[in-house]
Amino acid sequence: MTGIRQFFMKNSYETIPYGRQSISEADIQSVVDVLRSDFLTQGPVVPAFEEALASYCQAGHGVATSNATAALHIACLALGLGPGDWLWTSPITFVASANCALYCGAQVEFVDIDPHTFNMSPVALERKLILAKLQGKLPKVVVPVHMCGQPCDMAAINTLSRKYGFKIIEDASHAIGARYQGEPVGNCRYSDITVFSFHPVKIITTAEGGLAVTNHSALAQKMNLLRSHGISSATADMQGRPAEEIWNYQQIDLGFNYRMTELQAALGLSQLQQLDTFVLKRQAIARYYDQALADVNIQTPWQHPQTQSSFHLYPIQVTSTSVISQQVLYQSMTKAGVKVNLHYIPVYLQPYYASLGFQPGHCPLAEDYFKSSISIPLYAGMTKEQQHRVVALIQSLCHEKAVNRVVGASA
Ligand SMILES: *Cc1c(COP(=O)(O)O)cnc(C)c1O
Repeated sequence: MTGIRQFFMKNSYETIPYGRQSISEADIQSVVDVLRSDFLTQGPVVPAFEEALASYCQAGHGVATSNATAALHIACLALGLGPGDWLWTSPITFVASANCALYCGAQVEFVDIDPHTFNMSPVALERKLILAKLQGKLPKVVVPVHMCGQPCDMAAINTLSRKYGFKIIEDASHAIGARYQGEPVGNCRYSDITVFSFHPVKIITTAEGGLAVTNHSALAQKMNLLRSHGISSATADMQGRPAEEIWNYQQIDLGFNYRMTELQAALGLSQLQQLDTFVLKRQAIARYYDQALADVNIQTPWQHPQTQSSFHLYPIQVTSTSVISQQVLYQSMTKAGVKVNLHYIPVYLQPYYASLGFQPGHCPLAEDYFKSSISIPLYAGMTKEQQHRVVALIQSLCHEKAVNRVVGASA
């Protein structure tokens, strides 16, 4: 056997990952079509994907990038974030939501979560804003993260943004296809920019890939420039040169190579056709877990009645009355081939952030969540058998432990 096929022969039917992509024959064909076309990058498919995704979200403009981290970076720059500024985000997120501030030379602060939604708490945010105003350290940008796919209380955060004068970037890496107050996440009704990720564990994938949507054409133009070296070929941008010189592009800003390829965009366009189906499947699996785990002494995630989560993740939590510890649950499930995960270690506890001076105890509710939660497998392609196996395992572990404890107590 030659080529890369040898890497894919390992049979992994016994392990269930916490998340994985669903790739159809149509997805494969659309990528192959691009491979046979004239452009592998900077062709017509990226703009088509941008337009389709912006239209799905009911937003004005879409800017596709090499990944969501790149999108967060240029979103911050487009909003003018720089040295001396503050960006605030949730500690319960992937590190990229905070790192984007540091890339810009700005500083990061963390706002504690609402223990029911695991999202940035608007109450904690307001408390912190009042203090920051007194200290002259108000944030320039706040990044709410729609944790697990459940939208944040954007109306409340938006009200605070007008009172305290900050910009909002929604990190919707988990939340494409989710709805807030009946409207799609990404319409930017309550924010300046919304960012999506298409990493394979997310709702739809482009392998690596991200996209920023906005309703402000100036922000879209700025992000467009920044994702491609700060280079423009628009005549309107050209700065005066003698008529005999040939200039078909100019670098007018300092940007990056954060472009998405045509291959990725083709996969994204094809995946977008399936987005609603994927989200419905995820919601159905979540409902099954809700019901099947109702009698087990662990906490299943609460859903806000005004939101429809896209269920990127389904975290269960051990509580003070649970008979199994988070660690034992994690280790036992992993050993049984169910690849549960922890989302997330509070960002400021990461060694890099600790080295910046953050201390344990900074956001107590985020730390409680970190010490109790475990994300169990959830993805659109999960079979009924796999779902049953996950549930049966959790039931038996909790039951077994319950028996052990009763026996232990009476011994
Ligand atoms: C996945 C993720 C990112 C980063 O996405 P990439 O596309 O991998 O760069 C950022 N924020 C959150 C909340 C994520 O889950």
